Amino acid sequence: MLSEELVFVATCDIGGLVRGKGFPASEIKRRRKTGVGWTHSNLMQTCFGPIFDTPFGTGGDLMIVPDSSAEARVDFGEGGGRGAPIEHFFLGDIRNTDGSPWECCPREFVRRAIAALSTASGLMLVCAFEQEFVYTGIEDRPGHPYSLSAFRRQGPFGESLVAALRAAGLGPDSFLTEYGPRQFEFTVAPEPALKAADQAVIARELARSVAFRLGHRAIFSPMPYADGTGNGVHIHFSLHGPDGEPKTYDPSGPLGLSEVAAHFAAGVLAHLPAIAAITAPSPVSYLRLTPNRWAPTNADIVKQDRGAALRVCPVFAASRRKDIARQFNLEFRVCDAAASPYLALGALIFAGADGIARKLSLPQAGAQSAPLPRSLGQALDNMEKSETVASWFGPVFREAYLRHKRSEVEHVRGLDAKELCARYAEIY
Ligand code: GLU
Ligand code: MG
Repeated sequence: MLSEELVFVATCDIGGLVRGKGFPASEIKRRRKTGVGWTHSNLMQTCFGPIFDTPFGTGGDLMIVPDSSAEARVDFGEGGGRGAPIEHFFLGDIRNTDGSPWECCPREFVRRAIAALSTASGLMLVCAFEQEFVYTGIEDRPGHPYSLSAFRRQGPFGESLVAALRAAGLGPDSFLTEYGPRQFEFTVAPEPALKAADQAVIARELARSVAFRLGHRAIFSPMPYADGTGNGVHIHFSLHGPDGEPKTYDPSGPLGLSEVAAHFAAGVLAHLPAIAAITAPSPVSYLRLTPNRWAPTNADIVKQDRGAALRVCPVFAASRRKDIARQFNLEFRVCDAAASPYLALGALIFAGADGIARKLSLPQAGAQSAPLPRSLGQALDNMEKSETVASWFGPVFREAYLRHKRSEVEHVRGLDAKELCARYAEIY
């Protein structure tokens, strides 16, 4: 069969899906500047495909410009199963045709958040994403959470995934059998925020790619089955100075947090009822955020508790202050794979930066914490009411976001939990 390598240039959009266009790899030099053509209403494509509502109409032109720091090229070779032997894609920025950033570009959103944090504190965020999913290429046998048997029975998937992540320049950190039926999880090494978000997108796509090549699926939907276990995306993060010095830990601070980290966390908790619309942005997200699922239900911060919205993570085999500080991190658990990592991380950073700018304090120990929204509709209402969140988005992106998500809610209105989970499992 004749074959010529293709490259795909993509954004990870409001629906958390990776969309863009392809071209022959031989054209990459020219395309580095001009990218691929895009249009404003592409942003309004829902996860189901169709555009149900758009403020942009049919007019306008944009481009997605590839970023060489967000390239994934994996040669799966002849044994690479279904699909082209080489998978090659770039993530990029959505720009106006004059090259300026488009105000609704998700990647630009996280850049603006990083700048806001830097202005508020002079610090940067280093992050690592933990992603859970269901792998369909393994028989569902009861009794096997975390088991070696399930680890073995997933066959070549895990090792192919780790090799693909490595080939794409990521630092695979772990691959494990999770608690739910056929559920697995992987983590990659921490990176500064933008790179971490790029890598979260790349890793998710490579998991889908490896599963596809093996004739199966990696399903990241927040609740793949109504009676099942949720798939979370947990964002570990820590604050660092310009030379990388850790700034999250202070043994005398609340929960061991430094003053600046406590303000950051307080900002996240304060904005959680609104930013849940961005970090847990699908109707099924709210089936996951329910009791007894090891997923959060309140806007709370707790030391070493996997039921909290913000978990203060443990450190391992560290006794010297310097070693503790290097490991010390927080984990944001109100996130799932219906969210674009750019938007979720952007919202988290903006919220934290606002907490620092306003010197917000953590709630007193034992104080009642606010419940998380119970539905996407509630979260969107909270988001709409927040002037602070509006200032992060700007009027055009904010309206587009709210209209997009409300049209999605409308589309699935009336479906019961089982039907809802089935619809989203087809997509994510
Ligand atoms: N699956 C849980 C969630 O939906 C998390 C389980 C864990 O702590 O790893 O977030
Ligand atoms: Mg997990």
